[in-house]
Amino acid sequence: MSDELLFQPNAAALAHTRTTEADYEAQYQRSIDDPDGFWAEQAKRLDWVTFPKTIKNTSFAYPDISIKWFEDGVLNVSYNCLDRHLEKRGDQTAIIWEGDTPGTDGKATYRELHERVCRYANVLKANGVKKGDRVTIYMPMVIDTAVAMLACTRIGAVHSVIFGGFSPDSIAGRVEDCGSKIILTADEGRRGGKTIALKKNVDAALSKVGGVERVIVTKVTGNAVAMEAGRDVWYDDEAAKVSADCPPEPMNAEDPLFILYTSGSTGKPKGVLHTTGGYLVYGSLTHELTFDYRDGEVFWCTADVGWITGHTYIVYGPLANGATTLMFEGVPSYPDASRFWQVVEKHKVNVFHTAPTAIRALMGAGAEFADKYDMPSLRLLGTVGEPINPEAWMWYYKHVGKERCGIVDCWWQTETGGHMIAPLPGAFPTKPGSATKPFFGVRPVVLSPEGVVQNQTKAEGVLAIADSWPGQMRTVYGDHQRFVDTYFSQYKGYYFTGDGCRRDSDGYYWITGRVDDVLNVSGHRLGTAEVESALVAHPKVSEAAVVGYPHDIKGQGIYCYVTLMAGEASSDELRSELRNWVRKEIGPIATPDLIQWAPGLPKTRSGKIMRRILRKVAENDFGSLGDTSTLADPAVVDDLISNRQNK
Ligand code: ATP
Ligand code: MG
Repeated sequence: MSDELLFQPNAAALAHTRTTEADYEAQYQRSIDDPDGFWAEQAKRLDWVTFPKTIKNTSFAYPDISIKWFEDGVLNVSYNCLDRHLEKRGDQTAIIWEGDTPGTDGKATYRELHERVCRYANVLKANGVKKGDRVTIYMPMVIDTAVAMLACTRIGAVHSVIFGGFSPDSIAGRVEDCGSKIILTADEGRRGGKTIALKKNVDAALSKVGGVERVIVTKVTGNAVAMEAGRDVWYDDEAAKVSADCPPEPMNAEDPLFILYTSGSTGKPKGVLHTTGGYLVYGSLTHELTFDYRDGEVFWCTADVGWITGHTYIVYGPLANGATTLMFEGVPSYPDASRFWQVVEKHKVNVFHTAPTAIRALMGAGAEFADKYDMPSLRLLGTVGEPINPEAWMWYYKHVGKERCGIVDCWWQTETGGHMIAPLPGAFPTKPGSATKPFFGVRPVVLSPEGVVQNQTKAEGVLAIADSWPGQMRTVYGDHQRFVDTYFSQYKGYYFTGDGCRRDSDGYYWITGRVDDVLNVSGHRLGTAEVESALVAHPKVSEAAVVGYPHDIKGQGIYCYVTLMAGEASSDELRSELRNWVRKEIGPIATPDLIQWAPGLPKTRSGKIMRRILRKVAENDFGSLGDTSTLADPAVVDDLISNRQNK
């Protein structure tokens, strides 16, 4: 779909970019032909205690998977994100904070952030945290959360950030999995006008899991919370006892930096382990190039720091680059659907990065909310997290970017540390719905489901990566076998992404959805993204999720869950109209068999559609919905079950 739509970079983008198409091709080729030379040069973007002599030492040879980058290098992440900027930009704003309640905001300069991080690091030390210890962070979107993360890196502790929307059970599972003895939390958080009982959730989690000796509580709302004597302490009390002088711990490039659990779209979350040197080189380079970030610009990524996007593109990438990064405590719909755009104007945001789920929701609410704002500061838009439907891309381009800003669609994963397939702005044309071309050093391959490499440019199949890149995860924490089994056992010699894709005749990549979700209709393989995008292209549809269900004749039938735009009424006529619409957009093979109206779709807490649950509902198999702990709103599922369409 929409292959033909080609967006040439406009004059402003061309004037801004540092990469021409020829540069991109040449540098890409160099990065593939000589990874050691290429990455040795890129490593110079960081300050090292000892610059690495050995650059790449990696093997995808099953079953001996081993990934090491810059292995004899020594550095400290917080030093690179803070200390080295002090001389030149100590008084520059490092983090702008925008509160959930309109009118509340704050900021920290690089100097202030440095001081806060050093003090927090001393608090950790005073509370018994040592290099290599795992520290759980369950905090809201406040500057102190970034401070806590950086404080861990300063002393070589390994953080595991848990999104503040997770339940006590999810916290307990993650604390147990990584054996963390300390939790950093807050009294409460705020989101969308509500308070979130963070400390209370921690208490409930700790009634289910042992081993936690210390809970450090930051005051955010100031409401009363229970404190267990001997275990719980207030951050402010601890901070008053220590100095703000804390030298950075020299870390080996391959020392663990953090553990982060995946979103859980496909099953039980995996404890993804990233290490120090490769992650920071890759995160800072992708931040600079994919967003073409320039000194002095305001960069806003709307993710939560509890997700990898928040780790790499709110905290580590921007701060390593000396950027001004915006941290937003709230949600796009509070107090109304214009909040994002108000914030963009208020803080003069230059680069804005969000997720398709937010774009579709705002599109569903109506364009008038975005149309009221000119947002002259905006230069570039980003999208990440799911395939973006071309219709949503166009809406974003038109109503947010005012047909002036380019869009970078970034495909990557918790496992990859940073962008893998994404356009470099201004370097080449973009196509709505395509993540375009690989980043430097990334070797995507399209395999047939049986594992045969598709060498021709135009190809379709599963997406794998042929060689390592510095930001790659090193293992599943505590379970290396799961790492080998999950990513390297199915297609030997490759990193298997779990996503399906299509490569068009221009060599552009289109993610077609999760491989587990691919439909097989009368022997034809269809990606969920294609059918969903066709539905979303209909003017009355804001969101759609498509799954297969057993069908006597076709093998699999196409079952569609459809959310309508605000104010649109469902009807049988609309059902047949949508069926014809998809048939016309893609072809008769893609004609939906069943369409169910869904006021809400089951999503992970990071906003991704969980098709495995929808598949169970479509299959009438409610007994085995699997791990639903990462579901944002379990009530949605009950509603879908009671309105199931019959075959
Ligand atoms: P789990 O691995 O636990 O099932 P998850 O895959 O949702 O959860 P993440 O690492 O947060 O966890 O998400 C990565 C996935 O998100 C990718 O594999 C892909 O399916 C999807 N994705 C991310 N960005 C894009 C994009 N720009 N286009 C298409 N899909 C994307
Ligand atoms: Mg995944």
